[in-house]
Amino acid sequence: VWCELAWLGGERAEAGVLIEIEDDRFATVTAGVPTPSPTDAERLDGLVLPGFTDAHSHTFHRALRGRTHSGRGTFWTWREQMYALAARLDPDTYRALATATFAESLLAGVTTVGEFHYLHHGAGGQRYEDPNEMAHALTAGANDAGVRLTLLDTCYLRGGFDQPLDEVQRRFADADADDWGSRVDVLKDTDGCRVGAAIHSVRAVDSEAIAAVSRWAAQRGAPVHAHVSEQPAENEACLAATGRTPIQLLAGAGAMSPRFTAVHATHLTDIDISLLGTTGSCACLCPTTERDLADGIGPAARLAVEGASIALGSDSRAVVDHFEEARAVELDERLSTLQRGCLQPAQLLGAATAGGAWSLGWYGAGRIAPGAVADLVVVDLATVRLAGTDASSAVAAVTFAATAADVRHVMVGGRWLVQDSVHTSIDVPAALATTIGALWP
Ligand SMILES: [Zn+2]
Repeated sequence: VWCELAWLGGERAEAGVLIEIEDDRFATVTAGVPTPSPTDAERLDGLVLPGFTDAHSHTFHRALRGRTHSGRGTFWTWREQMYALAARLDPDTYRALATATFAESLLAGVTTVGEFHYLHHGAGGQRYEDPNEMAHALTAGANDAGVRLTLLDTCYLRGGFDQPLDEVQRRFADADADDWGSRVDVLKDTDGCRVGAAIHSVRAVDSEAIAAVSRWAAQRGAPVHAHVSEQPAENEACLAATGRTPIQLLAGAGAMSPRFTAVHATHLTDIDISLLGTTGSCACLCPTTERDLADGIGPAARLAVEGASIALGSDSRAVVDHFEEARAVELDERLSTLQRGCLQPAQLLGAATAGGAWSLGWYGAGRIAPGAVADLVVVDLATVRLAGTDASSAVAAVTFAATAADVRHVMVGGRWLVQDSVHTSIDVPAALATTIGALWP
């Protein structure tokens, strides 16, 4: 393919970029090729980006959109509404919803999703005949939609520091970390799906179990994610129960490494930020969800300065738009610090692409570079939002003004799966309407 403009990682777009693709990977990338050459190269107008990575997703939350945003309350009252939906899902509805939801992600340019999966069992915690049936529903949905998946199979053991599981939480839980490990051991990596681990939170997993999950991930070389310090109440409960912050507890249990991702990382101490940086861990920020749930603003710029990598997640899928997630990191930072330019557009796009790919165990992906998987997003610069931009302004214009609606074509592994803003095999709005409608009779 020959790109009018392509983003290769710098602050500006490169003009005339010829990309050769062999099988599912980029073979060569050459900038400064003035006209489509060879003449049979497919011409791509607009700005070409690497595929986006959504490093923190709960597919089933998509069915809450529009139903939980108004009214008063907190994260904790929202959680009651989310639990009510979780209680109604079974493998068939979960798969149908996952297919439609992952297809929505693909239309938005997301080619890789990290699904933080904890809805494992049937009503009351009853195991399905295959105890990974709900995981298989997700992998089938990702396969049908055409996205790469990292299945972050989540360990969940208790309702809180001194709380037993409630009725809905029994569906999330295994008996202990060994029980979790033996269930997850049978899940294997495939071409389109990697298996990783997740610690739901320090509320739901004690420190011995955190250590056991971390050892499992280390043995497999797999990523391990955890919800961390999304809410002040979580920090207060953790300090009261253990004398440590959640990050310090995770560090003490050996969870932190370049394969570790702290999701949210919103309410952190200076020591927490330093620990994330010195261990080379990742912070996955989910700003559209954090603003929806009144969670707060994570210290993105300080995390980056201290050496943590940054990824982005749609989390509750209140919005599925990685342009919006990326610019929200910088714009929220501006509001909280009264300073502009805390993170540059290339850093924000990097978080939306390579940062997330690393955090999900797709090492080296999320870049337009030889050897990387051939995932591309073509952004239409002729839309009303982006018209008038040129090579020098395209990267900043796309970062600060594009929306998911400006995504024109999407390639996954060398194949176009979105063309002219339409999924090549799924009527996505109809699939969403049908599957979500069935959950709200
Ligand atoms: Zn989450």
